[in-house]
Amino acid sequence: MSYNPRTNYKGPAHERIAANRIVTDSNCWEYPGSPSNKYPTISHEGCYVTVHRYMYQHYKGPIPKGHYICHTCDNTRCHNPEHLYAGTPKQNAQDCVNRQRHAKKYDQETASKILAMRELTGMPGNTIAVHLGLSKSGVNNFLSKLGLSYQKGGYQRYVA
Ligand SMILES: [Zn+2]
Repeated sequence: MSYNPRTNYKGPAHERIAANRIVTDSNCWEYPGSPSNKYPTISHEGCYVTVHRYMYQHYKGPIPKGHYICHTCDNTRCHNPEHLYAGTPKQNAQDCVNRQRHAKKYDQETASKILAMRELTGMPGNTIAVHLGLSKSGVNNFLSKLGLSYQKGGYQRYVA
């Protein structure tokens, strides 16, 4: 039985992605979705998965345990396999800092200290702020922009 990938939600996810993708000038492959959603999702075998993680697995193979799928193009909405690589949480967060994407508020040294404390101790932003003599709202804001805000059960990035 044939199906239309634009409307049928049961077809293979990579076909639905290919049918709906938008290719940008920088050769990023974007999947439409809510503009506020940094990581578009798609249903796959009854579950919602992020498009970029799905594409990595489909074209490049399994994601190493504990790794995130990062973007060389810095476009979180992109799912071009050529722009994706598996990195550790630290690499991923550090990449954000290196590109000055979110870290304008802090210099590189301070940003690295915050990230190191967060990763090594799992401390909430408030505690890190006290240790480093920074404002609580500033640190929490910084962490949340990196997708590292505190959630029930610990810190999570919104990429799973
Ligand atoms: Zn891209």
